[in-house]
Amino acid sequence: MLGARVLLLEKMEKPARKLRITGKGRCNITNLRPLEEQLKAIHPEPRFLRQAFGGFFNHDLIALLEANGVATKAERGDRVFPASDRAWDVAEGLVAWAARQGVEILSRARVESLVLEAGAFAGVLVSRPPAGSGQRIQARCGIVATGGQSYPATGSTGDGYRFAEATGHRIEPPRPSLVDIRTLPALPAAKGLNLRNVRLTLWIDGRKADSEFGEAEFTDTGLDGPIVLKLSRQIVDAKAAGRRVEVTLDLKPALDLPKLEARLARDFDARAGGTCADLLRSLLPAQLVEVFAGRLGLNPAGPAAQVKGPLRRKLADLLKELRFDVTGHGGWEHAIVTAGGVSLKDLDPRTMASRKVENLFFAGETVDLDADTGGYNLQIAFSTGWLAGESAARKAGVVAALSAGAEQQA
Ligand SMILES: Cc1cc2nc3c(=O)[nH]c(=O)nc-3n(C[C@H](O)[C@H](O)[C@H](O)COP(=O)(O)OP(=O)(O)OC[C@H]3O[C@@H](n4cnc5c(N)ncnc54)[C@H](O)[C@@H]3O)c2cc1C
Repeated sequence: MLGARVLLLEKMEKPARKLRITGKGRCNITNLRPLEEQLKAIHPEPRFLRQAFGGFFNHDLIALLEANGVATKAERGDRVFPASDRAWDVAEGLVAWAARQGVEILSRARVESLVLEAGAFAGVLVSRPPAGSGQRIQARCGIVATGGQSYPATGSTGDGYRFAEATGHRIEPPRPSLVDIRTLPALPAAKGLNLRNVRLTLWIDGRKADSEFGEAEFTDTGLDGPIVLKLSRQIVDAKAAGRRVEVTLDLKPALDLPKLEARLARDFDARAGGTCADLLRSLLPAQLVEVFAGRLGLNPAGPAAQVKGPLRRKLADLLKELRFDVTGHGGWEHAIVTAGGVSLKDLDPRTMASRKVENLFFAGETVDLDADTGGYNLQIAFSTGWLAGESAARKAGVVAALSAGAEQQA
């Protein structure tokens, strides 16, 4: 805290509500990969984070948590979680640490607007029961860390964009990211089916745009899961631009087409006496048997022996390229993060200070930075929060700093 007097204004009844539900309640706090690797997972301008990551990175965060009673562990993909598997412990550990550092936390205190004097930050107007709205709080420096716009029930309702815009900052349009997609057809009968080791390829206006290998899951309206989330940023932007978006699922990515056809020929010889459904069941999860039979024009109860020649090739093609039109994506309630936000052009990456308003700083998801899954989004919030906190304390001449947000106790 560098000796600064810090007031944290939180509009919900408790700080860090979103943090408490991260990682399906387990909180993927950060990632152990080195800085250069992490930057590859970040959009739209990873280099912006060099200073913030350089000052407070994954090992600093882990050390801070461990020193405050939150033991951690690393899992597959170098992802770090609390040893207890409870996101709640991370939130409570940080809140307790902040309180011990002397941070005053005011809950149910909603910042309504920023107050500027002679173009410089001078305080905020706050609404807080029972006094109500319009209470002015003076501060030498302010940090806006109001999060993005996704999962609005957690308190992140895009207020920071309003504050930034009203004080002359540019905003890159906020879009849902790390979000499920809606497809035509949707396969509600396969809802909940989790596919491992599949490849999902993204096609934009008929051209291959990207491809990811890993896990995907069927929902009643389309597809979800890690590889879908990873491609979702490009999908959301392509749909917003009115482009034609399709995805294809390769259910047998380990086999190229000739090898797959050879394998099918062997399977067919072994199963020629059974039904089409028996044959398909030997190749596919049960929930997809009807779907494949429909696309091949086969009666599931009919003899497997009919599946030969062009029909067998069509089956191989379908296994390699199960095609879906992408009609849309989940909304703010489903998006794990918000892409877009306060423009990086209006912020100084060395301090997180505004280039438009003196004594004002921004941190976390409010800023136009977002990342793939893997703990990177929280690391962005912690690193930019730390840097903004340090910079604000220095700027204030160790007098006062103010923040609204969960991670700004630096
Ligand atoms: C379901 C889910 C799971 C996730 N899992 C992970 C994960 O495992 N790992 C990972 O790295 N990332 C994960 N994320 C993303 C990560 O949670 C966010 O990127 C991160 O919380 C952003 O931190 P922040 O402090 O910028 O904003 P937030 O955590 O959104 O905090 C902003 C705070 O500001 C408060 N606030 C807003 N407006 C006002 C106002 N006007 N006045 C006062 N207070 C205000 C809000 O109530 C909120 O408490 C997940 C997100 C979701 C939704």
